[in-house]
Amino acid sequence: MSMTIAENMNAVKLRIGDAAVEAGRDPASVRLVVVSKTHPVEVIVDALETGHRCFGENRVQEAEAKWPDLRARYPGLELHLIGPLQSNKAREAMALFDVIQTLDRPKLAETFVRLRDEGVALPRLFVQINTGCEPQKAGVLPTEADAFLGRCAEEWRLPIAGLMCIPPVDQEPSPHFALLRKIAERHGITGLSMGMSDDYPVAVALGATMVRVGSAIFGAR
Ligand SMILES: *Cc1c(COP(=O)(O)O)cnc(C)c1O
Repeated sequence: MSMTIAENMNAVKLRIGDAAVEAGRDPASVRLVVVSKTHPVEVIVDALETGHRCFGENRVQEAEAKWPDLRARYPGLELHLIGPLQSNKAREAMALFDVIQTLDRPKLAETFVRLRDEGVALPRLFVQINTGCEPQKAGVLPTEADAFLGRCAEEWRLPIAGLMCIPPVDQEPSPHFALLRKIAERHGITGLSMGMSDDYPVAVALGATMVRVGSAIFGAR
């Protein structure tokens, strides 16, 4: 077992705890999603051997190659999809992931509804918000978020467990985290997936219930 990965995970968990306490929050209210995209099974096993069970991947095909065997070996796993999902991969994604954080458009919502009506179990769903309005990035635009979340609740009857955002790389993340929280509060949504290796303590201070951390644990990709 690699001590480095175990030590890095420990350090990240301590920083999450410190940031939570400093913000007057319960450290147990913040979940760490260890982002294992691009990393091979041997490396992921080091993280699993620490007892951690919550992981994130950004591609359905890559996750499908890596995780079914690991799931059999390590009970209690919670796997999150954190990358864009094509509608034609929705069925596979629903079978593989416990949480899909990237619901970002009506077509995908309607695909989930159709599959649910066929009897496929729905994973927990997060709606991705493109807080920086970046054209190359997925996510519902902030100006369209209220309407989209309204349709999720009333038209599609899709339970939304949380919101997710990825702030622009070249900007201060705090306003993006604050905006995500404000949108969630308007809809009574409690889950906030925000914060990555460079900014997760800030995200915790601003109310993140879930941080997604990759390179601070596994090193640069
Ligand atoms: C890769 C990725 C992360 C993790 O990024 P790091 O900077 O390596 O911590 C978090 N969220 C999403 C959506 C990602 O694609």
